[in-house]
Amino acid sequence: MSSSEYQPILVAESSENNTSNLSNSEINKILLIEDNAADARMVELLLVESGMNHCELIVRNSLNSGLKALEESDDYAAILLDLSLPDSIGFDTLSTVLKQFPNNNVIVLTGHQEHQLGLKALKMGAQDFLTKGDYDAGVFLKTIRFSIERKKYLKKIEEAQTRYQNIFTNSKDAIYVCNYEGKLVDFNKSTSVITGYDNSELFGLPIEALFENRNFWDAFQERVFQSKFVVEEEVNIVCKDETIRNCIISAGQLVYGNFIGINGFIRDITERKQAEKLRQDRKVADQTSKLKEQFIASVSHEMRTPMNAILGMSNLVLKTELDEEQFNYVKNIKNSSEILLGIVNDILEISSIQAGKVKFNYANFDFHSLMENMINVMQYKVDEKNLKLVLNLDPSIPQYLEGDQLRLNQILYNLVGNAIKFTDNGEVTITVSVVNEGHGSWHIQFEVQDTGIGIPDDKIGVIFETFTRIRSKDRIFEGTGLGLSIAKNLIEYQGGKIWVSSEHGVGSKFSFDLIFEEGVEPETDKPDDEDFDPNTRFDLLLCEDHMINRIVATKTLLKQFPNINLVVAENGKLGVEKLKEADFDIILMDIQMPIMDGYEATQYIRNNMEPEKAQLPILAMTAHANIAEDDKFKDYGMDDYVLKPFKPERLFSKIGHYVTLKRSNKHRSNT
Ligand code: ADP
Repeated sequence: MSSSEYQPILVAESSENNTSNLSNSEINKILLIEDNAADARMVELLLVESGMNHCELIVRNSLNSGLKALEESDDYAAILLDLSLPDSIGFDTLSTVLKQFPNNNVIVLTGHQEHQLGLKALKMGAQDFLTKGDYDAGVFLKTIRFSIERKKYLKKIEEAQTRYQNIFTNSKDAIYVCNYEGKLVDFNKSTSVITGYDNSELFGLPIEALFENRNFWDAFQERVFQSKFVVEEEVNIVCKDETIRNCIISAGQLVYGNFIGINGFIRDITERKQAEKLRQDRKVADQTSKLKEQFIASVSHEMRTPMNAILGMSNLVLKTELDEEQFNYVKNIKNSSEILLGIVNDILEISSIQAGKVKFNYANFDFHSLMENMINVMQYKVDEKNLKLVLNLDPSIPQYLEGDQLRLNQILYNLVGNAIKFTDNGEVTITVSVVNEGHGSWHIQFEVQDTGIGIPDDKIGVIFETFTRIRSKDRIFEGTGLGLSIAKNLIEYQGGKIWVSSEHGVGSKFSFDLIFEEGVEPETDKPDDEDFDPNTRFDLLLCEDHMINRIVATKTLLKQFPNINLVVAENGKLGVEKLKEADFDIILMDIQMPIMDGYEATQYIRNNMEPEKAQLPILAMTAHANIAEDDKFKDYGMDDYVLKPFKPERLFSKIGHYVTLKRSNKHRSNT
């Protein structure tokens, strides 16, 4: 700062005349660029006189030093500029300042009688002019105050602009401006990101070119111009790489100055839509699979009920006196119904696997006995076909393992059954070996090898799929094409693998592996019914609505238990009435019955009858295979269940078991 310059002064607040609404803490800096010390003093006095609050006057005596002050800080509320300075004269002075610091309020100080110059200065962009020597405190005050307000306002606008600029730039939505002809004249980065076009391609592009439906824009634009409000619509955008994006476009009229156009945003909702669609699809799939499950459960029920009648009746007929021809006919009926039942069971099994509902029951079991039993059961099939059945069982495998023995049986029966089915000469060899062993875990591999028809190379990849069967011209094998798929699922659910090698016409080898924990001898639940004498006198209540099944059950039971007192009720309600009238040892309860079903009847018996009767053993008899699921029958207060079509022996053994329990008074009273 040169010595000739004024020291900045602070103009004291005047208590009167204080019309400013500025907050006291604000100091408004005013820059005076004036080389004439007397004129500068004059301004200073005016400022005091005008009663401006908190003003700091900073004085510079040349254009350059003034510009320098502005460079250091551009928050001057006003710049009072003398047009004739030592280093610049006339309007150049003004234009230099305005050019370099456009966002400032320049008040030009003109000489006496230079009104015309002042007006010209206004035209050039000065905010105002004051005539030297003609200063009036009131005018001066107004001018300065206006400057201060204007500066603040400009500052706010500037901040807002930065803010809006940020919103504009950083918005994930495309923000666009189109002129009246629908050409893009401004847009943000996201416009490029969404469409894939770069800025130079977008600029001037007719926006309609972006839409999949080329007629979209005309109609849309018309609606925008007709509406006072923002219009929003879904539209598909074709990107540069020709992919289609689902978007929402919004638009409103944009009018400023001579410009009439449209602005708005384009929001990419492709992902959202996809997610929505996925959700929707999943919902439909869930519903479909539920429907399928219900359908399968109900169809299988519908099939099992009459099959119970067919199988039961066949069993009864087979026990009567028949000549050989008749015997063979009935035997065939029975065999065919058993195959049919197997198919129904397979379908139920695969549908519960597909629904992810398969459950495993891990327990100790006698592994060696299981393998030997299987060989025994399969022996008669092998004998029928004159084949050899060989078991190679590594003796180092522990006698007892822990695992799901029912599932293991199911897998083995399937593979061995297939091997026998597809082999006419030679042998079926089952090899069980140890892959490795440690920490009480046994990794065991099973191989089922046959010398049968083999599998063609091009079919080997699909045989594990559901309903896959290899057709052969000269022979038809019975089956559903579900067995291998069930086996594969059961193995994989337990962490194992299954694979096959085969040579067409030579034979096949199916292998799988599973890991078992070393087990202990299971506690044998020595069945109480083992010594149950079929001639025992006992009272049984049978609730069953299906006429033929009633006959089947009655005849079957009477044959096995000649001294039984069997009372029949045609629905749950009648059953409850019979129970009120007499004492029983056991109740067989069908589930689906009219008037009062098996669940309701059981509930009633358990909750409303005298203790002796409320605690009677109740066996559910149902064709609904899913009764075993999650022990559903227990939730309804039943003790056990027999699946229809029932195997007579199983029914007898369960009856024997529960009647013995009841008679020995162990049933319920001590559970
Ligand atoms: P299914 O035996 O009921 O037809 P699977 O799923 O058990 O159904 O088997 C599918 C198909 O794989 C069979 O129909 C048969 O074509 C083929 N296959 C399975 N096991 C053998 C085998 N041991 N030898 C030859 N072909 C076999």
